[in-house]
Amino acid sequence: DNSLQNVPLAPPDAILNLSALYKADTDPHKINLGVGAYRDNDGKPWILPVVKKAEELILHDPNVDHEYLPTAGLQSFTDASAKLIFGADSPAIKEKRVGTFQTISGTGACRIAADFLARHRKAPIYISNPSWANHQAIFTDAGLEIKYYQYWDPQTRGLAFASLIETFKSAPEGSIILLHPCAHNPTGVDPTFEQWKIIADVLKSKNHFPFFDCAYQGFASGDLDRDAQAVRYFVEQGFEMLVTQSFAKNMGLYGERCGALNVVAKTEESAKKAVSQWCKISRAAYSTAPSYGARIASTVLNNPELYQQWTEELKTMSYRIINMRDELFKHLQELGTPGTWNHVVDQIGMFSYTGLNLNQVNTLKEKFHVYLTDNGRISMAGLNTGNVRKFAEAVDWVVR
Ligand code: PLP
Repeated sequence: DNSLQNVPLAPPDAILNLSALYKADTDPHKINLGVGAYRDNDGKPWILPVVKKAEELILHDPNVDHEYLPTAGLQSFTDASAKLIFGADSPAIKEKRVGTFQTISGTGACRIAADFLARHRKAPIYISNPSWANHQAIFTDAGLEIKYYQYWDPQTRGLAFASLIETFKSAPEGSIILLHPCAHNPTGVDPTFEQWKIIADVLKSKNHFPFFDCAYQGFASGDLDRDAQAVRYFVEQGFEMLVTQSFAKNMGLYGERCGALNVVAKTEESAKKAVSQWCKISRAAYSTAPSYGARIASTVLNNPELYQQWTEELKTMSYRIINMRDELFKHLQELGTPGTWNHVVDQIGMFSYTGLNLNQVNTLKEKFHVYLTDNGRISMAGLNTGNVRKFAEAVDWVVR
């Protein structure tokens, strides 16, 4: 029977569920470390001042209208976006081997890439274990075969480097390898530059296809070039590859859904062909991307004064987060909390994989009104000078 009564209820999204629990908690000192969005030191969302300036300019621009964007997106945005990730002087861009397509933020870029790979590259995709939970959902829905490489070593609370190299070496020739170029979600652990070079060597020797999901450029270290160095190194090494971009975190454009998907190909012609396929996929799914966020990002990226201001505001965000790592570490040291906590300061980006287990996570929720995901991941952005001590004390209590 086709009745809607027979449609099963889909399980709630774990993160959205956590936010609902947090909202329902009436404790005035509750702490939300679940959400993957920047918060200022008062725990409030932050509209970047440079974004407000760009919005003013757009509002008064007589050439702005509400027409559809071209299927590949706003060209002033996609051109600038490619330069941002590959570098303004990138030879690959000069040689026109880069194709860039505007997407519905980073998630949309992953999905277009997934649909494209499912049609045009018959190979399994290797994702890190653990990874951003939506990777599995996206690649499964697109019909790709998912395999995993170990990424997190619970013993060292760091990168499982030897294991991931082994997996890449034993993967079938020509596999797709999904990599987080900076600020790995959920662990906050990134390979060193030396390790990236070794990864590149192994991928090259096996003819694997790198796919970089870049959701945090500039947000990780505060330096846009530094956060792009793995991607740029792989381009220098001559790989064909895909690179996503999201302006959710680094411009705070979360709800505007602003992002891009890039291909680096061997020739201009094959870059064009890839983008033509993305246009075809998007046309049948949602037609064209939304224009507002892309206009904001384009304005910031193409105006030297605004761009300069943006680089400062990126530092405001990333340094506040780095500072919270230091504070948390300091309080745990002061409390003499059992275990080693160096990983809190060694990790980078929005998230820290604390190593806390499910029991401890539940106790934090129930006894201390602290909300974090079941895998022990905390969003550093949820910490501030007003709550970091309280959080450290709660962690201290649950690990004893
Ligand atoms: N990829 C990774 C690894 C992420 O962490 C995120 C956001 O949390 C995204 C992609 C996509 O985010 P958005 O669709 O908001 O750009």
